[in-house]
Amino acid sequence: MKHIIFTKIKKIFEHKAIVLMYHRVAEPESDVWELAVSPERFEQHLKVLKKIGSVVPLHQLAGSVNSHNLPKNNIAITFDDGYIDNFKIAKPLLEKYKIPATFFITSGKIENGREFWWDELEHLFLFTAHLPSVFSMVVNEHAIEFELMDESYLTEEIRQKHRLWKACAEEPPTIRARLFYKLWEHIKPLPFTEQDRYLEMIRKWAGLSLMARPDYRTMSANELQQLASDNLFTIGAHTVTHPALAHYNADIQKKEINENRKFLQEITGREINLLAYPYGNYSIETIQMASDSGFNAAFTTEEKTLLINSHIYRLGRFQVKNLTGAEFKNQLNIWRLQ
Ligand SMILES: [Zn+2]
Repeated sequence: MKHIIFTKIKKIFEHKAIVLMYHRVAEPESDVWELAVSPERFEQHLKVLKKIGSVVPLHQLAGSVNSHNLPKNNIAITFDDGYIDNFKIAKPLLEKYKIPATFFITSGKIENGREFWWDELEHLFLFTAHLPSVFSMVVNEHAIEFELMDESYLTEEIRQKHRLWKACAEEPPTIRARLFYKLWEHIKPLPFTEQDRYLEMIRKWAGLSLMARPDYRTMSANELQQLASDNLFTIGAHTVTHPALAHYNADIQKKEINENRKFLQEITGREINLLAYPYGNYSIETIQMASDSGFNAAFTTEEKTLLINSHIYRLGRFQVKNLTGAEFKNQLNIWRLQ
């Protein structure tokens, strides 16, 4: 018991920092990966952070880890992927409260208006009014066969289940959700061109044409330029096509990261020195490459605080869910004790 109390007290006084990870500030119909925070709740989070008063730019935090001089309880905010709502909703709110943030941008979809494959797949299986009753496809050498039975037609009851489903915490609530999850697992590790090919085949099976909802696009080059022109904000690298990097050899990893970095530097006129691994996925080669390429720091999605001796190319972040202000404040305190 004594030991536990001592450990807890030690943790409270430890010099550590927290990096928060957001993706979208939006209210999508479903959010199975819990990537979205509503605009109203995001503002509540900012009010909590303003009161705490210790939000600093991410490069400052990374620099502190590097120089072994980490102040206590600092917090940094990050956004991944570059969704349009980051520009339309998050940017003005962050400016209103003068809170700095870093945006890790995947550049492959800038200007083409396309959705990320995971968003399209989610919408296609969870919300299409009618799907063929039998699904049969070989995906990445796995035969996937499903009978949708009476779920071929989307009822209000099924739709409601899909609206509420959280895939990280709950089993799929319907056959459609089970099929979606299985496809997601097998498509995720594939190269972008293969992902695109499977999505095209699935669209064809469903009798649908290419889906590109305006709210699901990434920022345009012009919007990105405007975002980067505010000194409150930093732009970071997040690859060209958002691959799970550990599945690829060093050359492909290097190309994905360096082309993305070069593009972002040209668009923003700023040095790009911070990197976030897509899906938080990396290998020994990724870390080596981040170091060789001269990035100042790289971030995973592993939920851990930053400490003085943290590995600078494996820094953790905490994914912020759609919490109320009070819940968010509570969650921050829990993270601080980790
Ligand atoms: Zn991402």
